[in-house]
Amino acid sequence: MSRYIATRAIRGANALVAEAELMLQKAIGEKGADTPVAFPNTAYFLPLIYGMTGKAVENLGQLGPILEHAKELLHPTPAESKWTPYLGETLDSGMATLLAAEAVEAIRYVYGLQPELMPGFSLAGGTAYQNAALGINGDGLSGHLNGPIDDIQLRSWGIALVDGRMPGFAAIVGAAKSNEVAVKLVRELQRRNILTFLCGNVNGRSIIDQLNEEGFELGYDTYTVPFGTDTLSAIYALGFATRSALTFGGLKAGQASEILRYNRDRVFAFVLALGEVDDLKYAAAAGAINFGFPVIADSVIPEILPTGVTTYEHVISMPFNEIDGKDDLERAERLVQKCIEIRGVKVQVADVPVPVPYGSAFEGEVVRKTNMRVEFGGKYSRAFEYLRMVGMDDVVDGQVKVVGPGIDSTDPQGHMDLGIVVEVAGRKMQEDFEPVLERQIHYFINGASGVQHIGQRDIAWIRLSDGAVDKGFDLEHFGKILHARFHSDFGAIVDKAQVTIYTDPDLLPEQLDLAREAYDFRNKRLANLTDDAVEEFYSCTLCQSFAPNHVCVVSPERLGLCGAYNWLDCKASFSINPTGPNQPIKLGKTVDYEKGYWEGTNEYAKIGSHGVVEEVSMYSIMENPMTACGCFESIVMLIPESNGVMVVSREDTSMTPAGMTFSTLAGMAGGGIQTPGVMGVGKFYLISPKFISADGGFKRVAWMSSYLKETMADELAAVAIREGDPDLINKIADERSVSNVDELMAWMEEHNHPALIMDPIF
Ligand code: SF4
Ligand code: ZN
Repeated sequence: MSRYIATRAIRGANALVAEAELMLQKAIGEKGADTPVAFPNTAYFLPLIYGMTGKAVENLGQLGPILEHAKELLHPTPAESKWTPYLGETLDSGMATLLAAEAVEAIRYVYGLQPELMPGFSLAGGTAYQNAALGINGDGLSGHLNGPIDDIQLRSWGIALVDGRMPGFAAIVGAAKSNEVAVKLVRELQRRNILTFLCGNVNGRSIIDQLNEEGFELGYDTYTVPFGTDTLSAIYALGFATRSALTFGGLKAGQASEILRYNRDRVFAFVLALGEVDDLKYAAAAGAINFGFPVIADSVIPEILPTGVTTYEHVISMPFNEIDGKDDLERAERLVQKCIEIRGVKVQVADVPVPVPYGSAFEGEVVRKTNMRVEFGGKYSRAFEYLRMVGMDDVVDGQVKVVGPGIDSTDPQGHMDLGIVVEVAGRKMQEDFEPVLERQIHYFINGASGVQHIGQRDIAWIRLSDGAVDKGFDLEHFGKILHARFHSDFGAIVDKAQVTIYTDPDLLPEQLDLAREAYDFRNKRLANLTDDAVEEFYSCTLCQSFAPNHVCVVSPERLGLCGAYNWLDCKASFSINPTGPNQPIKLGKTVDYEKGYWEGTNEYAKIGSHGVVEEVSMYSIMENPMTACGCFESIVMLIPESNGVMVVSREDTSMTPAGMTFSTLAGMAGGGIQTPGVMGVGKFYLISPKFISADGGFKRVAWMSSYLKETMADELAAVAIREGDPDLINKIADERSVSNVDELMAWMEEHNHPALIMDPIF
């Protein structure tokens, strides 16, 4: 244990706690102890404080005892001669630092000083809070850095974190040697789909400035989140880590050591300290070590070797200029490599032969009209994609053919028709897997930087940026990407793949007709695929790496609650990986057809949940409803007065008639426990004939987020007809007109809502 680090961390912690106390006194004096404190869009209060102490801090006054607690964790700065610092005191100081840092950020929120304004941006309109809620996601127009990550975003990353597409996060603190190095470091992390948090500065210069100067697109969509330009904003990374444990791990506030252990064992994260390390950074680093997150510095500092908190080093020094490499870019690459090695997690990178950066971090990238070279589909042209299974001898593996004119046949910002036809063959391939594989085309193509892909089937819409085309991206690269990814991701069922890209106006229509015939055939197959028509459902335990006791039972008429896995997906996944997270559940004898109990599902529920759940009903929210992890697209909840339920979508941040927002509700619905009356669901379950069919079905829906009404308008209209009440959707209230129970009841009376005359729901 380095005496030097301990001394500096202890000194940094003492200084910060003292500063936080002064700030708090001043704030209470100026604003009053009752002044509310909160981070935007989280149900976890001040999340680190909440997780570590169990205290739900809601006003300035409540921060007092927190800082008292931080003070108790402090130790005197060691005297030169007699004291030998050890790890425990360093860790204590780290924890004190984190508590104080979160308190300081909360006080700054009270003064409108968080999130920070973007460098060089003046506030034009909207309150700081509104802007914070908008984040800088998208086009950065709100003019603020991100500040803390909101619960909705945390959950929507959940799935990627769980299934390994997003291996973990890196918190970068400080500034890189040059802008070029800053960009390279973050690109290397993006390439591996590692979420990157940016904060801190060195002598006033932050990596956020460096990336902004280079026109780097920062935001949730590109996995790069700028917290703030000072060291304290690093606290948001640890708040994120704390909430991961609460959201996905089913842990409770106050279980400090469990939360820390959960992060150490399950969350792959590290801190990369760029540039000079001052006392405060040492203190914050000591905080990160509590979570088992190692700190790698690109300057000369003493190291801390494994001690028992972890089996890997806590602090590593890799002076940038001493890293082996022919230039700074290579050194940056090695630095990232080293960080990943230290934390010891395998990161898979599919080797995709394209002339642009490639990885899931680019999936959400937007190509705007102004920097677009060409588009396929959308308003002015047609694009479709079609994957079909053919015989082994009918595929030349790796063949990519372009049939018709190339990109250069259009003007800049022009458009053209496009058809992507993928033919695959494999001994374990089944026709049922065609749609499962075809749906991947969206993700695979989107992974290329400078390529935007939206939609699927014959409503695909693809844009190529000027940048991508300048780097040499061409039509054939669609095929190269697909060939590489189908092999790397679906090698168990795809032995061979070839791709033909059609742009020829004479040949394309014929292919489009073939594709449409296939879509039609599949639609019919899907419509006939009911729970009664199969002998097995599938389990999904993918989320158990975060929510250890949660199981989704996936049936043809009830998809997984994240919306990402339906019955066919699970079936394909089982073929690909027979010992993987999706196992067939043989239904066996029917126990209760109405409520959806089978011997097989009950038995599995017990085993899969490790005894936490005794039975699970497939079709009821009132009796033994399915549990939830945290990934649900929507929450269904009983509103007793209405004799019905409300459905809140993840996108809806407004107040619901239950008196809670989605964020707060999500805290109740998740964690892998059964709560009658509350259920997390995938939104397509809403339109299934089996949607809470034991409790009366879709007619029970009294209130529904307008987002769902709008984005699923056609599907819901069909449900209304199926339920024998074509006007049903208009009878359902939403947040635009109803935000509490009284208003809901008035609305239902006025609109003659059917739930009012249905049998009592309980
Ligand atoms: Fe997680 Fe359920 Fe989705 Fe599987 S289906 S990934 S368990 S939410
Ligand atoms: Zn989940």
